[in-house]
Amino acid sequence: MIYNNVQKELANKIDEEPKLSNWKNWKWQLKHSIKSLDQFEYLTGIKFNAKERADLQKTFGKFPLSITPYYLSLINKNNYKNDPVFKQAFGGIEELITLLSEHEDPLSEDKDSPVEGITHRYPDRVLFHASNICSMYCRHCTRKRKVGDVEFVPTKNQLKKGIEYIKNTPQIRDVLLSGGDPFMLPDDKIDWLLSEIKQIPHVEIIRIGTRIPVVLPYRITDNLVSILKKYQPLWINTHFNHPNEITSSSKEALAKLADGGFPLGNQSVLLADVNDCPRIMKLLVHKLVQNRVRPYYLYQCDLSEGLSHFRTPIGKGIEIMESLIGHTSGFARPTYVIDAPGGGGKIPVMPNYIISWSTNKVVLRNYEGVITTYKEPDSYEPKMCDRNCENCNLELNINEEDETEAIGIEKLLSDSSDIISLIPENNERIKRRDDNA
Ligand SMILES: *Cc1c(COP(=O)(O)O)cnc(C)c1O
Repeated sequence: MIYNNVQKELANKIDEEPKLSNWKNWKWQLKHSIKSLDQFEYLTGIKFNAKERADLQKTFGKFPLSITPYYLSLINKNNYKNDPVFKQAFGGIEELITLLSEHEDPLSEDKDSPVEGITHRYPDRVLFHASNICSMYCRHCTRKRKVGDVEFVPTKNQLKKGIEYIKNTPQIRDVLLSGGDPFMLPDDKIDWLLSEIKQIPHVEIIRIGTRIPVVLPYRITDNLVSILKKYQPLWINTHFNHPNEITSSSKEALAKLADGGFPLGNQSVLLADVNDCPRIMKLLVHKLVQNRVRPYYLYQCDLSEGLSHFRTPIGKGIEIMESLIGHTSGFARPTYVIDAPGGGGKIPVMPNYIISWSTNKVVLRNYEGVITTYKEPDSYEPKMCDRNCENCNLELNINEEDETEAIGIEKLLSDSSDIISLIPENNERIKRRDDNA
């Protein structure tokens, strides 16, 4: 059943002759998205006082409001102040607080952008901002500086700049379309963009990051799925943050995508008073895997402007991971990551499981608190590898030249490099050496 009483009541208020087919029509949903405080009050019956209204108007002046009727229908009106959907969709005056530690672009996505629309941070993959619009403006959006600022759909010519960059950069084997929401583009534009990327010989996989299954599930139409199917291998990551978001409508959208053959993942953001609870998170990951979605990342909330009320200490994330690892299916647990401010990329963090170590034994603890030992081998002959060793050539059977070099800590560990340490630029001690030389 996709049309419950709350939805029927909303549809009646929005449209004079509401039909079930309208409610389930994603274009109808977009056309009737809630973008003003008055509309929100009228549709929900929630009333704010004059002071609250003034504060909210100020907030929406800076960070606009947009909620699909579907997502609005998930809010519990009788207890909206504590409602996880309300908190993600509606916001308040606290968004206007900016801390010194916050930035417009905390991940330096713009600095790592070789051409408009592309963030090239990791050696072999890029983030391609394929759209600047979303069907619902998440109050916790890390790209608040961009999304919704001007409703802007990139033209083919603008997208072509990104496509050219990918074409001219043979290291890129993985293209991640994000935004905004790529599924806000019309079907034919999606078809065109995917076919352009698919034609690039060195691109091995395409990924799409979207919140559509959560906030506008009716966008996942049979036609969209049949377009996407032409571009396998295609991986799709969505963004559920709370079990209340898993409804009959979102389940149906996920089933269409899973039946289409796309591996599905989920990226949650850890949000204070929304999902900062081991029990909520466990229920969420269980519901996700029941719908064939594998939890991929749990993000520590970024240092974007106006998100201080959403942030938790990192310890909360560790506590949640502690409650999942070992306690539930391995594929039901995400990797908890902090996206490094300044653009260092995602850094995984975990509870500690190694307690101690000797030359031949490791002492570990498990999720129950049992302390155990692992006996290491008495003899292990390390194999020297200069990245062109017998094992590389014989056992790995490399038929294509691997041009990547070891970098970072990987390089420190490798046999093929003489480097023994990584030294920060302008290190005082090294400078002294050079001065004295
Ligand atoms: C998250 C991200 C990716 C993809 O990272 P994975 O860990 O491979 O999922 C790529 N580029 C940028 C800029 C990112 O933020």
